[in-house]
Amino acid sequence: MSATGEQDLYEVLNVTVTASKAEIKKAYHKAALSSHPDKVPEHQREEADVQFKHISRAYEILGDDDNRAMYDQHGMAAFDKGGASGFPGGAGGPDLDDILAQMFGGGGMPGMGGMGGMPGGGPAERRRGKGRNEVQQYEVTLEMLYKGKTTRFASTKNVICEHCKGSGGKEKAKPKPCDSCKGKGATTRLRPVGPGLVTQETVPCGTCSGRGKFYAEKDKCKKCKGARTVKQKKILELYIPRGSREGEKIVLAGEADQDPDDAEPGDIIFELVEEPHKTFHRAGADLQAELDISLSEALTGFHRVVVTHLDGRGILLRVEQPEGQVLRPDQILRVSGEGMPFKKSDARGDLYLTVNVKFPEDGWLRNQAAVDRVRAVLPAPEPVQFAPGETPEAVDEVDFEEVENMDEFGGGSDDPRAGAEWEDDEEEGAEAPQCAQQ
Ligand SMILES: [Zn+2]
Ligand SMILES: [Zn+2]
Repeated sequence: MSATGEQDLYEVLNVTVTASKAEIKKAYHKAALSSHPDKVPEHQREEADVQFKHISRAYEILGDDDNRAMYDQHGMAAFDKGGASGFPGGAGGPDLDDILAQMFGGGGMPGMGGMGGMPGGGPAERRRGKGRNEVQQYEVTLEMLYKGKTTRFASTKNVICEHCKGSGGKEKAKPKPCDSCKGKGATTRLRPVGPGLVTQETVPCGTCSGRGKFYAEKDKCKKCKGARTVKQKKILELYIPRGSREGEKIVLAGEADQDPDDAEPGDIIFELVEEPHKTFHRAGADLQAELDISLSEALTGFHRVVVTHLDGRGILLRVEQPEGQVLRPDQILRVSGEGMPFKKSDARGDLYLTVNVKFPEDGWLRNQAAVDRVRAVLPAPEPVQFAPGETPEAVDEVDFEEVENMDEFGGGSDDPRAGAEWEDDEEEGAEAPQCAQQ
């Protein structure tokens, strides 16, 4: 699990973790250009400046093979507080304490309780706090978020052994100090942390599971066999209120693993992840969908179900001619109150329908008589009026071919107006880091 509050560098550059070096460079240029402080209006400059620094920093790490490998393994802990600049390669280099803290904080260390670390003085000085929260992502469909949902699931967790009250030993038995760690609960060993770097690290003692003492075999609690906790199955109920959004957290308080060293158990926290929907896009309480209609419907109207809503209702639309509206490509129709519900309210957002006119296939008219019939019913074309002085002096008839897009426009030239969005950014993007250091 990554450190909380830290923005993922791959996200900053909007690339996947498997992106190639070239893709990362390209993404950096694009991102740097759009947030370059010189390219945004004055009132957004401060925000853009911060974003620009994030982008530059992300590229300094992901654009370098060694730095990227360190980041993939240790996250930002490998770079933060490394030196005055906070940048990789700065005075201090990667902070080993941070790397180790990160590794130890990752969870799963037996007997480490909720503290996630190894404070200097050994187990005796460990503060009793709340146990570690278990955060997991929970994928939900837009339908579930529309209607709300209660899910039950079986969870197996560690609970404190009732037989020994969490001591791990038989009644009246006394634990013996651990020989392996001299009662400290931890041992040290050497571990490589980077190219040519070795560090001394503290790991929980394997003999006593970091407790500094243990019960002899004959003194161990019969029920938990000295483990102090036992596995218990429990049915948990997860309630997702209707109108919930991506990223919202649902907390099952105190349902995480119990540990005798914690004052209270941590929470199980579900973070909602909204699955993409094939029909609807969502922004807040509003929904958007395509409204696919034929050319005939665009011109003459219709009265039919245009979309099936998230609760299964058909949404019926009436656009009737001759008085009705002619629908044109990319027009937007707003249906009030057919968006997502607001939490704890009967109010709902709006549904935006984007008109998509399906034109007939080439050659659909088949003969001249059909062409004439269509011409007869459509409005007659207005004669072209040239502005004074723009009447052509001569006329050329030309051929054409259809192309997919503007990618080849200005191809091979160094004209900044050439081609699609990317090519024109190269020059300016390359200058960006210099500007940032001013
Ligand atoms: Zn027990
Ligand atoms: Zn030990």
